[in-house]
Amino acid sequence: MSYAKPLPSYLVQRYQGWKATTHSENRAWYKRLATEGQRPRAMVISCCDSRVHVTSIFGADQGEFFIHRNIANLVPAFAPDGDHHGTSAAIEYAVTALKVAHVIVLGHSNCGGVQGCLDMCTGKAPELEKATSFVGRWMDILRPGFERVSETHSGEEMPTALEKEAVVVSLENLMTFPFVKEAVEEETLTLHGLWTEIGEGTLECFDSKTREFVLV
Ligand SMILES: [Zn+2]
Repeated sequence: MSYAKPLPSYLVQRYQGWKATTHSENRAWYKRLATEGQRPRAMVISCCDSRVHVTSIFGADQGEFFIHRNIANLVPAFAPDGDHHGTSAAIEYAVTALKVAHVIVLGHSNCGGVQGCLDMCTGKAPELEKATSFVGRWMDILRPGFERVSETHSGEEMPTALEKEAVVVSLENLMTFPFVKEAVEEETLTLHGLWTEIGEGTLECFDSKTREFVLV
């Protein structure tokens, strides 16, 4: 069975358009990126959600951001157990090899992953509680966040509160990585927590002193 097919034509057309315009007009720039390698100043950890457009929000060019996306922009705690850890591998490479100056965790409104966690933690999503659910086991990272948020929030406030808590949990988990903690203490790395409201286009930044999200 042939499971890998040629690209659908709408993607071929878009690619050819990009190659003929953006790429050909900036050929020297692309050549330089290829020969000199990447030196991104920041790593961004965002949700896979197609509405979260990291490079648009910050008007970023090629080579500027080292971007890792996963369900609900979560960072697991440091766990050197020999297992497969895609997010941890990306963080290790960004911090120890690329030596990025910033790691930005970007959360967002209407996050399906966070809603799934909310449903799972309130007994409304038994399918996510199964050991075989990749999404469910991934969202376990946010369970402690759910416990915290449910002490102070309820009802309609919960999704947004938990989306923001996902950012906070990820920042806390980032600090469990010894090389992240060391770089932060040496002030060669700063961590940032953001949450964006998709409809309004607003951006809020977490202040770890007040533990509040403040409009940018
Ligand atoms: Zn999301």
